[in-house]
Amino acid sequence: IKEKLELLKPNTHNTVNSLLDETALKLASKVDEKIASGETIGLLEGIPFGIKDVYMVEGTYTTASSDLLKHYKSAYTATAIQKLLDAGAIPLVKENCDSFGHGSSSENTIFGAVKNAKNPELVGGGSSGGSAVNVAKDYTVFSIGGDTGGSVRQPAGYNDVYGLKPTYGRISRYGLMAYASSTDCVGPIAKSIEDIRIVLNTMSGKDVKDQTTYTSSEIEQNSILSSDNITSVGYFKNFIESEAIDENIKKEFLSAIEKIKAKGIAVKALDFFKSDTLVSTYYTLAMAETASNLSRLDGTNYGNRIDADNLKESYSVTRSENFSEETKRRIVGGNQVLSQGFSDEIYLKGLALRDQISQNFENDFNEVDIIISPVTPMAPPKIGDSLKDPLAMYLSDAYTVGFSLGQLPTLTVPQGTETGLQLTAAKDNDELVLKFANFLK
Ligand code: GLN
Repeated sequence: IKEKLELLKPNTHNTVNSLLDETALKLASKVDEKIASGETIGLLEGIPFGIKDVYMVEGTYTTASSDLLKHYKSAYTATAIQKLLDAGAIPLVKENCDSFGHGSSSENTIFGAVKNAKNPELVGGGSSGGSAVNVAKDYTVFSIGGDTGGSVRQPAGYNDVYGLKPTYGRISRYGLMAYASSTDCVGPIAKSIEDIRIVLNTMSGKDVKDQTTYTSSEIEQNSILSSDNITSVGYFKNFIESEAIDENIKKEFLSAIEKIKAKGIAVKALDFFKSDTLVSTYYTLAMAETASNLSRLDGTNYGNRIDADNLKESYSVTRSENFSEETKRRIVGGNQVLSQGFSDEIYLKGLALRDQISQNFENDFNEVDIIISPVTPMAPPKIGDSLKDPLAMYLSDAYTVGFSLGQLPTLTVPQGTETGLQLTAAKDNDELVLKFANFLK
């Protein structure tokens, strides 16, 4: 634990928003005592982990990488994190990310752009960039990110580690700061499938504090070792035929397909919605939900309140001064699509498209067991470049957001490439995704 804290301290990749060193050392010495007294310890006991700075952990700063919550300390602990603490895992760090999860590069933060683990001139990916980089650099054994539209999978891909967005509802969102509640997922990032499995099992389960959770069965180690029940894999033709895909990423993906075929599995090309439709549907709904969720942050109950002549003015100044440009863009966009005269045309249309997308997935999973895709169409950009063009940044999420809208389990598998390979299964089939990842090893 001490060693890991020493590695995190210089903060060379801007992954650290706050270090939990005192707590970590205290917890570690308790585990030491247990070991010294001959007691057996659990699988996660003494294992150091990181937490994206959007999770409540009682007594810790929980800033969402924003000016608004720069001095905010959590009053309680998120269910998912509490389960890890109960299992004896040791929290080391609250990790840098895009503010409120808004972004795909971890540059939209008051703590400095997160630098890619492989090449520090490139972005760390986002929004859970700090979490993926910490795992890739071995600063943490695993980290807990949050994935609304790709924020665990995309930085995992950019930094060459595993990152899982579980089925929506498998893990409680209680204590995860809400971005878009209908797609927000708690997601583990780690260097092995086995670590992902253990952490996923620990965090899963029904929680009365999140009514969208359900009871899932434990994923056994043995059950992911054989892949007998996987016979066919599909991919979306238009993802690969699109002009937006980088040539190299396309080549790597096509060679992944060949390897799968060589293992005796049928690979089918499937029809799917255009990337533009996926991105605009996702951003319409995500902006609407975030505008609504962030309306509580006006400086009254939480955050950096700025006083003014009257209450309304105080709300306005507090929000204008403390939210980032990107967050304001989304609040304005979200309120626009929800407003009278626009909601039928835009928001309701978004909801209808989302139903069609989910239906499409249901049909696909009658035909294939797993859908594969690259994680992103492009390689990670240089730090500074993606901020120049928000629309281009939204389009870079083309391959991750559809699976979020479908609330499906999706895993990034590192390939030693610029992005990774994304594996998706039908709802509540998280086990199958891990199985197939193991089969590909
Ligand atoms: N990049 C996407 C967005 O900005 C996804 C972010 C996330 O999953 N939190 O909405």
